Amino acid sequence: KEKSAAPVTKEELGRATWTFLHTLAAQYPENPTRQQRKDVKELMAILSRMYPCKECADHFKEILRYVVNYTHPLPPISLLERMENEVKVRRKEIILENAMFWPNYCANPVQAGSHDQFSQWLCHVHNVVNRSLNKPVFPYERVDARWGKLDCEQRLCDLQGISAKD
Ligand code: FAD
Repeated sequence: KEKSAAPVTKEELGRATWTFLHTLAAQYPENPTRQQRKDVKELMAILSRMYPCKECADHFKEILRYVVNYTHPLPPISLLERMENEVKVRRKEIILENAMFWPNYCANPVQAGSHDQFSQWLCHVHNVVNRSLNKPVFPYERVDARWGKLDCEQRLCDLQGISAKD
């Protein structure tokens, strides 16, 4: 009889999910198609409902509801860094603080207009989770180095966005 595997922990599930999401962001095209923008927004909304850890899903739902909707163009990195350095504040306070920072909400706050936008937005969301778990915040400028594009022959696995000649 096959021995049953050890159950997956919340931490393992979290690490696997962040790997999936940050890799998706690394592969996300510079100029995504309308369909790709729509898909990524829907994926995050579905994740917030179907994530297989209820506590995390509820937390994520709350973040998606309240996390700042970055305005265009993206706020200067120095401003974002100042915000991220506010460690160890309770989640509610962070959300309130963010709400005061950029009081622009929209139904789906996922920023999916370009590779940079989506990967920075995701880093921010991950940092909101990190702060609520008293984990260190991750610097924005290290995201591309930590989560590079998939190592794939002849770039066959790159997602294709709108090319310059379209
Ligand atoms: P992880 O947070 O899993 O990160 C993995 C790696 O990503 C790190 O080692 C680092 O190299 C890199 N990284 C870290 N921060 C960033 C960033 N901001 N941007 C880019 N890369 C980064 N756990 C709970 O206990 N309660 C919750 O409510 C909860 N909510 C979650 C919601 C979601 C949507 C997800 C995906 C996970 C959630 N988790 C929650 C799990 C939690 O976030 C961690 O995944 C888990 O605690 C394991 O943490 P870790 O220290 O191994 O690193």
